Amino acid sequence: MPQTLVLNATYEPLGVVTDRRALILVLNQRATMVEESNTILHYAGGQVTLPAVIRLTKFVRIPYRHAVPLSRRAIFARDGGRCAYCTAAATSIDHVIPRSRGGGHNWENVVSACTKCNHQKADRTLKEIGWRLRSLPREPVGAAWRILGTGRTHESWLTYLKPYGIEALGIAAASA
Ligand SMILES: [Zn+2]
Repeated sequence: MPQTLVLNATYEPLGVVTDRRALILVLNQRATMVEESNTILHYAGGQVTLPAVIRLTKFVRIPYRHAVPLSRRAIFARDGGRCAYCTAAATSIDHVIPRSRGGGHNWENVVSACTKCNHQKADRTLKEIGWRLRSLPREPVGAAWRILGTGRTHESWLTYLKPYGIEALGIAAASA
């Protein structure tokens, strides 16, 4: 089912709805279309392009911010789908301090990595092999990160997610 990204009046990403639901919000003037999808809905009287991104006309306050779940997809999104050590396309998750050496499975100790680096590093620490991280891994903050847990995403969403630190949408940056 095609989905639509919903932005707050401030352009902050809030969540995802079905494209039909998004169209109804637009028709009821509760939202405006920001980006069109490539899905055209045909009906008796004609046709309409369904939205890929909509923006609410009224600001909605978010009362509570949840912690961002640590997932493979979210780690790739934070790290731009690139290896934290050499910037090649990432294919795996690496624990900076290896788990076998007491490293935790948390935002501060996980990065996306390419197969080569992950293999070379094995269960050694960065100090032992003289490697350095391009940036310090941190836990991401904000409602935009919930979008990653909603399944299907659209390439055009990235423009609106990037200001919140989401650098990539796909999991498999498979090309070598
Ligand atoms: Zn690498």
